[in-house]
Amino acid sequence: MTVNELKEIVIQGGRLKEVESEWLATQPDKEALYEAAHEITQALASEEFDMCSIINAKSGKCPENCKWCAQSAHYQTQADVYDLVSKEECLRQAQYNEDQGIARFSLVTSGRKPSSKQMEKLCESARHMRKHSSIQLCASLGLLNEKEMHALHESGVTRYHCNLETAPSHFSSLCSTHTQEDKIDTLKAARKVGMDICSGGIIGMGESMKQRIEFALTLRELDVQSIPINLLSPIPGTPLEKQEPLSEEEVLTTIALFRFINPTAFLRFAGGRSQLSKDAVKKALYIGINSAIVGDLLTTLGSKVSEDKALIEEAGYRFSDSLFDRKHLWHPYTSTTNPLPVYKVKQAEGATITLESGQTLIEGMSSWWCAIHGYNHPVLNQAVEEQLSKMSHVMFGGLTHDPAIELGQLLLPLVPPTMQKIFYADSGSVAVEVALKMAVQYGYGKGKEKKNNFVTIHSGYHGDTWNAMSVCDPETGMHALFGSALPVRYFVPSPRSRYGGAWNPEDIIPLKTLIETHHEELAALILEPIVQGAGGMWFYHPQYLREAARLCKEYHLLLIFDEIATGFGRTGKLFAWEHAEVVPDIMCIGKALTGGYMTLSAVLATNEVADTISNHSPGAFMHGPTFMGNPLACAVACASIKLLTSPEYDWQGKVNRLSQQLEEELAPARQLSSVNDVRVLGAIGVIETKEPVDMAWMQQRFVEEGIWVRPFGKLVYLMPPFIIEPEQLTKLTSGLIKIIKEI
Ligand SMILES: *Cc1c(COP(=O)(O)O)cnc(C)c1O
Repeated sequence: MTVNELKEIVIQGGRLKEVESEWLATQPDKEALYEAAHEITQALASEEFDMCSIINAKSGKCPENCKWCAQSAHYQTQADVYDLVSKEECLRQAQYNEDQGIARFSLVTSGRKPSSKQMEKLCESARHMRKHSSIQLCASLGLLNEKEMHALHESGVTRYHCNLETAPSHFSSLCSTHTQEDKIDTLKAARKVGMDICSGGIIGMGESMKQRIEFALTLRELDVQSIPINLLSPIPGTPLEKQEPLSEEEVLTTIALFRFINPTAFLRFAGGRSQLSKDAVKKALYIGINSAIVGDLLTTLGSKVSEDKALIEEAGYRFSDSLFDRKHLWHPYTSTTNPLPVYKVKQAEGATITLESGQTLIEGMSSWWCAIHGYNHPVLNQAVEEQLSKMSHVMFGGLTHDPAIELGQLLLPLVPPTMQKIFYADSGSVAVEVALKMAVQYGYGKGKEKKNNFVTIHSGYHGDTWNAMSVCDPETGMHALFGSALPVRYFVPSPRSRYGGAWNPEDIIPLKTLIETHHEELAALILEPIVQGAGGMWFYHPQYLREAARLCKEYHLLLIFDEIATGFGRTGKLFAWEHAEVVPDIMCIGKALTGGYMTLSAVLATNEVADTISNHSPGAFMHGPTFMGNPLACAVACASIKLLTSPEYDWQGKVNRLSQQLEEELAPARQLSSVNDVRVLGAIGVIETKEPVDMAWMQQRFVEEGIWVRPFGKLVYLMPPFIIEPEQLTKLTSGLIKIIKEI
């Protein structure tokens, strides 16, 4: 047996036996032992250093008689004595730590366990912190039972801490008011309700090296993945006040053995590390310490976060970069000073998204309508790879290529036959800009320069760029905010006749009246056909489109359909115009065009529109994005369309099945008091609540349920990838209803 052989066994996934561990501890060549533990750390443990912090939410007056503890009422110590701190103070400290890049924050109380009244207050503090910060919550509140654990977990605490403290054979000589079995029961209760567990102890309390090994093996039996290691700080007044400190070599050997025995765990520096020299701390990090309890607001740990960080980075660990994200990256519609939480994704596969934490979520959003085939699809991957080796981009001015041509050939049979000209653009919003410009240039070509304004309906969404924004709903589209900088368009109420319901002829009157009055200045009517997406998730009656098209024809307005969200099967038809059999003059597509792989959109137009523009001065359509017709994006769009329309894929069958399942499984939500409406069309399921939902709270609850759903306003909705499995969809619908019930 050699140290290196044992190391290899561990790296290959084997488990050290007790005798082997004891043999390791006796090896005289400590440097070789440290080096071997370091290699295990490098091979198996996280290289991302995990920092957590704590708040002593209640201190002193503990009835237990643990011999090491300053807070025990059995001993005369100088420890602070105070009752539960307020939720505001908990939050203040949580936010302070979050701003330092600390990932987890623990509520710690002295005592055997809190009273039921105190438990309520602690749960309230947890909810308060969770609502106003995105730090992960831990708790260490003593010997709780399963019911109490459950309440804590429901309040947002995801990890429970309870130290075993020392080896089973040593514990009873240090404490007689409770047993280590009590602690193990506590950890099991936490795990049973779904929490992670964290458990370690104190070394240097008179135990032998053999007992430290026994301790590490006990933790391994319990599969503890976060192990705080404290060095005893002998507290004057406690029975251990005169305990001799361990030598640095003993401490480092212990850490090495803990690493051998618990190769993947976070070994966490906790209290007492300030007793070590700087060199010993560096060595401990090298050997296997890959996490720590830190905090400027703590008095006992004796090190500043910034100093800790410098040492840790020197030792070659990385820090989670979520703080960089919080500090520097803007997310859609968020504040930089008080950003909503974001979840870091490691990987996405099929209908699942895996977070960096290792948690897997069922995808309910298709990344905003895009990822219809799910993620990491072999066919789409291959298309990108093949195109990549040929060319990723060339300018479209004066050049052309196969992917652009093939995409056009694939698109034309899917759209109304009158659509004959294709303009590739970068994104949905740009497609809308292009469509609006086309309409104005068309009017110009017709000698009707005055026809340069637009009409649309309320609750629409057409994108975030300037003119796209000008035709979004005036309230949710932020028109007031941009004031006179934004062109002023005409708006009429959106139709109230539902898809699938009766047609109310009065629905068209506002549009009719407006067009009759203003047609001389109107270039076009722009609509999302059938489904209003981000502006309200509303499904309206096809008759509206027929009547609107008739009015446009009569008064010489172009009809623009924005099919960016509705395209490629989402509504149960390949494109939503088919529900009404109404063809537009200009049509925008995007989002699912590339199966969610890349940004690409297209504007399709009739020959009449294109020719009118082209046959008049300046003789060309005045638009030309740098990345127009990007070959990579076109290639993956071709692959996505071929996949979607292949007979084996059976998109219609897939969408029908999703539609039916959404209908069945969301129907019970109609009975909920907080729910106003439930509607399903194609592979879109919408629950409209009576009051706007608290997005940060709800998002977090969804993540805890293992689903990815992003609500806004009063709308909680699903538009899953077409390839989702029935069980996965059930997880989405049941999770949705469960969390809505909690409102
Ligand atoms: C998403 C969307 C847009 C904007 O597309 P982007 O790619 O985000 O610019 C425009 N119209 C509709 C209907 C959309 O759903």
